Amino acid sequence: MLDQEISNLLAYGQNCLLLDELDCAQAARRICKLLKIADFMPMEAAEEVDTATNPNKLVAPLLQYATEQNIVGADGVAQLKAEIMDAIMLKPSEVNDLFADTYSVNKQKAFDFLYDYSVKSGYVDPDECAKNDRWEAKELKSKIEIIINVMPQAKTDKYPKCSLCRENEGFGARANMRTVTCDIAGEEWTYCYSRHQYFDKHGVLTNAEHTPMKGGLDTVQKLANAADFVGADGFVCSDSLVAYGGALNTEHEHFKTGFRTTPMLKQGFKTRLKSQEYPYLEMGTVDWYSTVIRFSHSNFEKITEFADKLISAWKSYSDERIANDGTKNFVSLVCRKLNGKYCFDVVLRSAGLKRPRMAADYEEIKADALSITDILGYFVLPNKLSEQLKTAQLYLDGTLPYDKETKIPLAKTVERLLKAQGGNTVSKLEAKLNIHDEVDLVCEKILASTAIDSTSLEQFLATLGIRQM
Ligand SMILES: [Zn+2]
Repeated sequence: MLDQEISNLLAYGQNCLLLDELDCAQAARRICKLLKIADFMPMEAAEEVDTATNPNKLVAPLLQYATEQNIVGADGVAQLKAEIMDAIMLKPSEVNDLFADTYSVNKQKAFDFLYDYSVKSGYVDPDECAKNDRWEAKELKSKIEIIINVMPQAKTDKYPKCSLCRENEGFGARANMRTVTCDIAGEEWTYCYSRHQYFDKHGVLTNAEHTPMKGGLDTVQKLANAADFVGADGFVCSDSLVAYGGALNTEHEHFKTGFRTTPMLKQGFKTRLKSQEYPYLEMGTVDWYSTVIRFSHSNFEKITEFADKLISAWKSYSDERIANDGTKNFVSLVCRKLNGKYCFDVVLRSAGLKRPRMAADYEEIKADALSITDILGYFVLPNKLSEQLKTAQLYLDGTLPYDKETKIPLAKTVERLLKAQGGNTVSKLEAKLNIHDEVDLVCEKILASTAIDSTSLEQFLATLGIRQM
């Protein structure tokens, strides 16, 4: 029973996951046990195994069998898949050792190895990620990407304490998760790639202890250490710790990481700045929707000291345009290590801006606080929007009659678009394009609404002895 399919998977394990031939018999036993199969006869692997870049096709017949035999219900398939993959993978410690050995010679190769292993083990699943609605906003000044996330969020039980805890390795559908350890500011942290892959090589760097984000100089220094860890190709970033700062979990200290080419990081300086106290810093504001101060230098002590000063000064800053009692201003942070220099992007944000608030009309597109992912130019929209946009399209192309009195999702968006169409219906393709363009524009407006008024920015920078060049 399933001899061919299991043999294929074992061969795949040897080809792609460094499964040792000596471990194959044991791996086969584990798979048989999961599938409640008594006998297994090894066979010659099929040719398709040699060209497989992820395990989905090879593991599919086993999952189908398990469902047909009622070994698992529909909600147990993901976990079973992870457990089958785990049977043909290296142990966490072995992956960790391989990563560390490679890292000591070539950082980039080590990350490439881990990413490749995460994809080939099925933990990061390109087929799953492709289910997200995702497009580039081509018409906009800076090309942000819109992502409607349809992947389920990681679930946790009472144990581990949260979805970032190390104990998740091996837990439920994370049986095929592999993390590696590293040293951040003398503490043990763990690193792994994210299943969501909102951006290229999206990863999570997490304190090995379930300990809260501290903020201040401590966080700034750890972020710089983390930038050292990820190396020249990557970036690390942190959400603000306040509730309206976009962070989902401040109880467990962590950073997000990714590949350097995000829309915001690709942007250059808009203006150059000079600090009296730190004249050697290369500094400027970034040509971006949000207010971003970018500065770089090779000296760890000096640059983290400056970053901390800038951030604390911003937290207490207020003027006639910003009502801040010390709790309203916050920052999102990005750090990179470029050509031996630490490069910080400090995004100045405030929930106390006195100008009229973003029109409530846009809240049906995105109501929650912007996270650093959004600010970087990967605008993540809620799951429900996927269906809602498809329905909205039907009103624009005339499939459904629009009636102002009937409550429909995205009513304000539909109304705006129908108005723009002069009350006429359009073709299905046009309707789709119109909806996408509208979402792009709304996201751009929401992003731009985070910007600090230029007069306020100038006044704030002056308090720190920083002026435009
Ligand atoms: Zn935790």
